[in-house]
Amino acid sequence: MKAIRVNQHGGPEALSFEDVDKPSPGGQEVLVKVESAGINFIDTYQRSGLYQIPLPATLGLEAAGTVVETGAAVPGLKNGDRVAYTNVAGAYAEYAAVPADKLVTIPDGVSFDQGAAAMLQGCTAHYLCMSTYKVQAGDRCLIHAAAGGVGLLLIQMVKMLGGTVIGTVSTEAKAELARQAGADEVILYSEQDFQAEVERITDGQGVNVAFDSVGKATFEKSIDCLSRFGTMVLYGNASGPVTEFNPATLGPKGSLFLTRPTLFDYLATRGDLEWRSSDVFNWIVEGKLGLRLEHFYPLAEAQSAHEALEGRMTTGKVILKP
Ligand code: NDP
Repeated sequence: MKAIRVNQHGGPEALSFEDVDKPSPGGQEVLVKVESAGINFIDTYQRSGLYQIPLPATLGLEAAGTVVETGAAVPGLKNGDRVAYTNVAGAYAEYAAVPADKLVTIPDGVSFDQGAAAMLQGCTAHYLCMSTYKVQAGDRCLIHAAAGGVGLLLIQMVKMLGGTVIGTVSTEAKAELARQAGADEVILYSEQDFQAEVERITDGQGVNVAFDSVGKATFEKSIDCLSRFGTMVLYGNASGPVTEFNPATLGPKGSLFLTRPTLFDYLATRGDLEWRSSDVFNWIVEGKLGLRLEHFYPLAEAQSAHEALEGRMTTGKVILKP
């Protein structure tokens, strides 16, 4: 079968379109024919080496597809079932062997593309506003990269919870998408000082929570946007990692909270996986959660997809089609 492999860390050119053996499922595994593989920013970190993974490796942490073979010890799933998953390596491929307990069934009314888009970015937005910081009605929330894959979903979920959203984006076209998703205010952080804008918009009160996936370029100012007892949720490194921080500064700035969460802890149990994915799927079916599915690439063109994602050319979800 065809797959996208990384043999050595590097730029997008490190992605290699290769023939590899089709996996055969172990006793507790299911062989999934991948229909849609989600591309996520974390894939670029694993490719570049910012996040170390054993090499060589097939990239990709999220997909939706059809069950074509089940291991001997897998109850409850059969050939032809439509399934989706995240947190299992090897999704940039025609087939993937996936532990059965990582799979969820895709409900009627949700496509493979939506299924792939829902898992990693959808469950991330879910845990950020439902668990890491439980958004309450009236909370003021700062969301960076608001027109990105996670960003557009997080805006919608925060609005469902009754929060007020201040989004940041780099272009006016992205600002319009963030507004359409429900953002109350949008700041062009490429042109404006977002801290000064947050102060102006909130009449000097600041925000209760900052969801920061941009990292190095925004981290310090995001902290300075917080109100007393505010929570800084640093959950990504799109502009580079934050490498130095003095926790003593959190006190005089208002007894602030700082957390650096990862999805995999928030999906560690079967209960969490079912709770978060079923909420996301139900909201899609009910029309409460809109997915922006605009960027599709054939498997062989994964390099171009990574270039577009890292070049800030994409909005919403990027999908790879094997
Ligand atoms: P996005 O679609 O949000 O793409 C990244 C966006 O970041 C860009 O579109 C761009 O938006 C913004 N950005 C700001 N600075 C830069 C820069 N220097 N280079 C590139 N992009 C930049 O990606 P995802 O939705 O896949 O992921 C968003 C973030 O969330 C990532 O940092 C990812 O690692 C993180 N994440 C973390 C998880 C966790 O559990 N901790 C789980 C899932 C994702 P703009 O042009 O508007 O600035």
